[in-house]
Amino acid sequence: MISKSAKEITVALVGNPNSGKTSLYNSLTGSRGDVANYHRVTVQKKSSQIEFEGYRINIVDLPGIYSLSSQSPEERIGRDFIQEYRPDIVINILDAGNLDRNLFLTTQLIEMGCPLIYVLNMVDESRKKGISLDIDAMGAMLGGPVVETVASKGKGKKELLQAIIAVNEGELKTHAIRFSYDSHLETAINRATIMVATLHPGIFSEVQCRWMAIKLLEGDEELLQKEGDHNNLIMAVREERLKLATLHGEEVDSMFAMARFGFIHGLLAEIRSSEQDPYAVMERTRQLDNVFLNRYLGLPFFLAFMWLMFESTFTLGELPMSWIDAGVVWVSQFASSLLPAGLLHDLIVDGIIAGVGGTIIFLPNIVILFLFLAILSETGYLSRASFLMDRLMHTFGLHGKAFIPLVMGFGCNVPAVMATRTIESEKTRLIAILINPFMSCSARLPVFILFAGAFFNEMAGTMVFLMYLISIASAMLAAIFLSKFIVKGENTPFVMELPPYRLPSLRGILFHMWEKAIGFLQKVGGVIVVGSIIIWFLQAFPHSTINENQQSEPLALHDSYLGQIGTAITPIFKPVGFEWQESVAILTGFVAKEVVVASYAVLANSEDNADENSASLRSALSQRMDRVTALAFMVFVLLYSPCLATIGAIKRETGGWKWPLFSIGFSLSMAYLLAFTVSILGHQLT
Ligand code: GDP
Ligand code: MG
Repeated sequence: MISKSAKEITVALVGNPNSGKTSLYNSLTGSRGDVANYHRVTVQKKSSQIEFEGYRINIVDLPGIYSLSSQSPEERIGRDFIQEYRPDIVINILDAGNLDRNLFLTTQLIEMGCPLIYVLNMVDESRKKGISLDIDAMGAMLGGPVVETVASKGKGKKELLQAIIAVNEGELKTHAIRFSYDSHLETAINRATIMVATLHPGIFSEVQCRWMAIKLLEGDEELLQKEGDHNNLIMAVREERLKLATLHGEEVDSMFAMARFGFIHGLLAEIRSSEQDPYAVMERTRQLDNVFLNRYLGLPFFLAFMWLMFESTFTLGELPMSWIDAGVVWVSQFASSLLPAGLLHDLIVDGIIAGVGGTIIFLPNIVILFLFLAILSETGYLSRASFLMDRLMHTFGLHGKAFIPLVMGFGCNVPAVMATRTIESEKTRLIAILINPFMSCSARLPVFILFAGAFFNEMAGTMVFLMYLISIASAMLAAIFLSKFIVKGENTPFVMELPPYRLPSLRGILFHMWEKAIGFLQKVGGVIVVGSIIIWFLQAFPHSTINENQQSEPLALHDSYLGQIGTAITPIFKPVGFEWQESVAILTGFVAKEVVVASYAVLANSEDNADENSASLRSALSQRMDRVTALAFMVFVLLYSPCLATIGAIKRETGGWKWPLFSIGFSLSMAYLLAFTVSILGHQLT
């Protein structure tokens, strides 16, 4: 016959307030009591007995507590019961959605040395939050089985009861986890443990002695009082505490707490599936932001990324560029050999093929730029860039929400202007719209790459980077100016969302790049073709004049319609050092900035009739002006008037012609002023 005591199991329920302890107790014991708890009203433990599979299980409900110190009567009841009564099993109930906090109590329960079963409660809610936990790993690391429950619905009750029996029978193993503290703490703990053991021979197990030693070292009031008779022990503990505190410059209790939090942190890092778990993701994000949003490191990192981006855009683009270049030369020669000499030949070869070919070779650069932008945006970094801008704007007493569409502006200004709709403050929104054209869109990239390549050799990537710095700086200056003098209204503070960092998906990035490449090709097939044709006509006519000798003589390019138009506006640009060709290129760029390159290509092709490839376009350019003028030209193209599509977007978004016209005038003035400054200063310095 089995003795009655062999079938009796005493379990204690321990957990934080609101972890669902009462619900679990009620569900296990079948009480229909009120679940609501009145904090600190009952500090007395409740207990009930139930029968399950031939066992009699005593369930003791201990008060809800956060820790096992002796600071409150609830805590004292809990730990005295465990330390003195030694229940067969301690059931530690944990709110699965709040483990960071709940596990603090667990670290202390573990040290008390009773067999533990972990109840992971509220898994219904935690699953909804997307938290997924590796409960096997959790059990292994905490030294006891983990049972998932929804206590309020009684789910998992049976599994818990079975686990209780299995643990009691030794079918489910539990093992004592022993935290190791740092070596100084360990030495002190060991000394105190030995003293406690000698003072209470045969009463406490080794684990219990260690627990008391730790509690004494933590400065536990109750235990220090209880052991008050043992003068040696108290003195030794005081001494150790003092020694440790001076050695580490930190209170001993907080050293213990830190070690426990360290354990929890490590444990959670291990058991949370990092992909979906919002806590783990936010934790990683926080760590990354410590670096990327660091007060001192943030901007240098941002600049380093930008530099890397434009250096790569330039250097990685070279090779595929040369392939496209070779293809364009081949097409040009093929068309040349097919078509008889004449106007049609010139229109097709010198006009369309030159213009389109001169632009299309920048496809690789555009694709690479968008690859970087896609990576930076998908990883969440670009929001940080806006955040850094915002912080910089605070220096001027402004809020930088206007910089949120910055990211998009680097791609194209049109969607960026539309994206300002998300800004609630009218003032900020208007500023965001008006500074957007200063964000160097991808259409300006071909101009920079062409000019940087022609004039700055090995510095080319850095020069492109410099253009983007000027772009951001101008946008900021414009924002300050507009906010102080032009746009009225309040500067309202706002929260800048910082999404978590993510690994970008290859598919997302490829799709993004594909989209941009197609967009670019469509532009080349549309506006560039038309632009090239118009430019070609304007530079080819009037075709010839009859001179005194009645001989037909080709007219100089300068006298063509294009030359005449250019010459007419050149006086405006003379102070900056631009000739009529630059004036013409600038004029054509009003339509779309890529046309600037196309018009240079068409012009260069008409001036000499060598095999046209990008190298000869570069060398033709490099003979046209000096480096300083080239830089001034790049600056001008960077800043002057938004393209037609952007002007249209500004008109739509501001509902009238006032602001688009202002934007044209404003940006033209900025461009002119800065280009002029660059030209004057540059020529003086060189
Ligand atoms: P105690 O403070 O630890 O005793 O927690 P209670 O048992 O009083 O539960 C606190 C609240 O959480 C109550 O509103 C319960 O209905 C609810 N609750 C308890 N367990 C669960 C659970 O597993 N899932 C959900 N969704 N709610 C729970
Ligand atoms: Mg309760």
